[in-house]
This record gives sequence, structure tokens and C-alpha cells, in this order.
Amino acid sequence: MPAIIPLKQGNLHINWQKELGQAFTSPEQLLGYLKIDAAPWQAGFAARRLFPMRVPRPFADKMVKGDANDPLLRQVLPLGDEFADVPGFVTDPLDEHDSALPGLLHKYRSRVLLVVRGGCAINCRYCFRRHFPYAENSPDQAGWQAALAYIAAHPEINEVILSGGDPLMAKDNHLAHLFAELSAIPHLKRLRIHTRLPVVIPARLTDGLRELLSNSRLQAVMVLHINHANELDDDLSQRLNSWRQAGITLLNQSVLLAGVNDDADTLCALSERLFSAGILPYYLHQLDKVAGAAHFAVSDAKAKALMAELLAELPGFLVPKLVREIGGEANKTPIDLGLEPTQS
Ligand code: SF4
Repeated sequence: MPAIIPLKQGNLHINWQKELGQAFTSPEQLLGYLKIDAAPWQAGFAARRLFPMRVPRPFADKMVKGDANDPLLRQVLPLGDEFADVPGFVTDPLDEHDSALPGLLHKYRSRVLLVVRGGCAINCRYCFRRHFPYAENSPDQAGWQAALAYIAAHPEINEVILSGGDPLMAKDNHLAHLFAELSAIPHLKRLRIHTRLPVVIPARLTDGLRELLSNSRLQAVMVLHINHANELDDDLSQRLNSWRQAGITLLNQSVLLAGVNDDADTLCALSERLFSAGILPYYLHQLDKVAGAAHFAVSDAKAKALMAELLAELPGFLVPKLVREIGGEANKTPIDLGLEPTQS
């Protein structure tokens, strides 16, 4: 039986879970908090029926008061646009709804994705899993054992990606058990966590969780989801820097979103801010064509033009790869930028 590392500062659970419990679930309350007149937006609030609203206060605190076009607010405010029935935008854009085992997706040969928790701390309106049947994919104890047995029986798997929802919705003691079980599987090398939770509730970066990861036999990678530099303030940067110093690789993936980050200055500022916090820009995703999110789409032509500007402005290691996920494909598909070599 693998050793379970004792947790420190368990009281921090109370803080992040308290923040979770105090999240805004009503657009009227959120707009009131931001001192924005709700009347022009009221008709769109019914979109909460399609996908509930959830916005933690620390994330709302990074929004500019009085600005209805704030790029962080735009990511979370329900709008009437979500009712538009746009050809090509479907409920399961990545063909994920039928998995081999509940909670386990074996999309890539050497990696499996474990749905640790169905819920998220924040509900992003563009989320490609906004229609995902989490209820059928949230394994119970027997389901966990089946998923772990599946990984143990497949020696070609060397990396486990914890996903969701958001895997950090699980408490540290639950994660400790899971990490211990995974590290006991000899062919696993890496543990990757895809999360947005620390971005919206920085207190989720507990010392106990950092120690669990830094002491693990498995190399730990945390892939954050940050779309705009305003999401990464000094407090979060300092916390993340301490994680990097503990040996945890930090990467970021963003989604290219109309009205949020679809201009070169915004994307350059994001890359610079990420690097100053010890995070490398990893992917810039074209939007997955999920029903209800078509108003966030950016054309490929514009995306390519933005990438050309980033390549001209930034050092190469600060330029994320522009990719698209295609249902049924084993890997993310890089988008050919079609750039001509420059003459010297
Ligand atoms: S945090 Fe990620 S999984 Fe959760 S709602 Fe946002 S985009 Fe979707």
C-alpha cells in the first residue's frame, strides 16, 4: 500500500470551499456587485436554463467595476446569444459522451483522461463540456477501482490527465488517495492536472496540495486555463511562482474568444504576464463548436493573422500553438498558419 503523505494547513480547505459556497449564481447579483445596470442584459439571463451561472467572488473582483464589456465578465455572463441555433454547433463537439468506462476517456494512446469531478468552480459560457453528462460519468468507489484497474492493465499508458469539470474541486485528502493509487502503477510517469480553479479561487493552491505533488514519484504538470492577463493578478502570480519553485511544471492553455482576447495586444500581454508568473503559454485553442457558444467564435483567417502578429512581437517560447480539437482524432490538430518564410 503506497504511503499517503500527511496534509498541512488543512484549514485552507475551509477558505477555498467557503469561497466556492459564496459564488455568484445570479446575473442580477453579479451586475449589482459590479455596479452595472442589469436592464440591457436582462433578456439574456434566461440562458441560465441552458447552463447555470457560477462565478466565484475572487474572479469577480478582477473585473473592472462599471464595465459591461469587461473581458472576464463576458466569459461568464449568460446572454440571449446562447439560444441561437447555429449550424455546426452541437452538444457533443468532441464525441466524448460515450466513454469506455464511466469517468475515463482513453482518447490518446499513451494518455488517459480521468474525470475526477463533474462540477467546476466557475461556469464558462463557451465551455465545450457545457452539455456533458457528468452524472453518468462521475464514478463511485467501484468505478474508481475499475478505472485504476484499466490503467494498470494498459502498460502503454504513461500519463494520467486529471480533468473534469475541474479535478481540484476534489478535496486534498481525496486527491492524496488518488495520487497514491496512481503512483503505485509502475508504468505511469506523469500526472497532469487541467484546472481553472486556482485562477478563480487562488486559495485553492493549498500548501498541502503543492507538497503532495512535489513529493510524488510522478512528474507533476499543472495546465492552467487563463484567457486574459487580468485573470492573473499579483497574488495569484506569487502563489504560482512558489509552485514552480517546488518543481511543478506550469503550462497554460487559452481559448480564443471573440470580445475577450481576440486581439494581438491582449494575447501578447497574456503571454508576458504568464511568463512572469512562471507559466509557459502552451495552447491557444480555436473554440470547440458547442451549441450555445457560437457568438464566441473567431474565424480561422483572423486567428492566423493574430498568430502572425504574436510571432513578430514575442520570443518563440511565449507564442502558444494554435490548435483545434477534432472529435475522434487522437491529438490536438495544429492549425497551419500558412506563413511564408521572411526574406533576409
Ligand atoms: S473551467 Fe473549464 S471545464 Fe469548467 S466550465 Fe470553464 S471551460 Fe468548462
